[in-house]
Amino acid sequence: MKQKQYAVLGLGRFGGSIATSLYNMGHEVLAIDINEDKVQAYSNAVSQAVQADSTDEKALKALGIRNFSVVVVAIGQDIQASIMASLIVKEMGVKHIVVKAQNDLHGKVLEKIGVDRVVFPERDMGARVAHNLLSPNIIDFIELSPEYSILEFVATKSMVGKSLIELNIRAKYGINIMAIKSGKNKINVAPMATDVVQEDDVLVVVGHKEDLKVFEGKMADDSD
Ligand code: ATP
Repeated sequence: MKQKQYAVLGLGRFGGSIATSLYNMGHEVLAIDINEDKVQAYSNAVSQAVQADSTDEKALKALGIRNFSVVVVAIGQDIQASIMASLIVKEMGVKHIVVKAQNDLHGKVLEKIGVDRVVFPERDMGARVAHNLLSPNIIDFIELSPEYSILEFVATKSMVGKSLIELNIRAKYGINIMAIKSGKNKINVAPMATDVVQEDDVLVVVGHKEDLKVFEGKMADDSD
């Protein structure tokens, strides 16, 4: 794997988690925070932790931010600082910029600036947990676009022992089974119509939001 250079601006829970995860995956990570205590706390968890104000263009230039492959702006509460830092990094010509947004308006401003990806960690995680609450079978829900999503769920009792053709999920709900996970490490990424669902199998399906809603409703009834 080619090692990339990442800079993370803001070491709150979100930025801190991204920085340490990337470092543990073997990448070079420069972590920046305005708060000296935060910098100290992460000094051994990343390649380099530096105290600096991310809204200070000179400071970012001196740190050579423009040479990083990816910059993550993870300043949440101070929306003005987040926007300023994103704009500075964009103007420096950084190729890939990811920014955490606090609300819709913040997200819109970030898109206007032209950052590559706006993330709403609390909102996304909230949606994932809500899907899991709907039915304990649902493990994960990932939004691919405003219209399409991926749903990961443990096969319900009524599915066990049936082949995919018998389940007929595509015709009934208009959604596609992408993969079946069995046990810890086995994953069938090209399931065939004759494959039979076993107990504890995890199915990964992709479909339109409305179709998935109907399917999830059926699953919630099944698991009651
Ligand atoms: P999380 O939910 O990820 O914990 P948050 O959304 O509550 O974080 P904050 O705690 O406001 O966000 O900010 C995250 C971090 O960004 C903090 O550690 C804060 O010190 C740092 N920070 C705030 N402003 C700046 C700035 N101008 N330059 C660098 N770091 C900053």
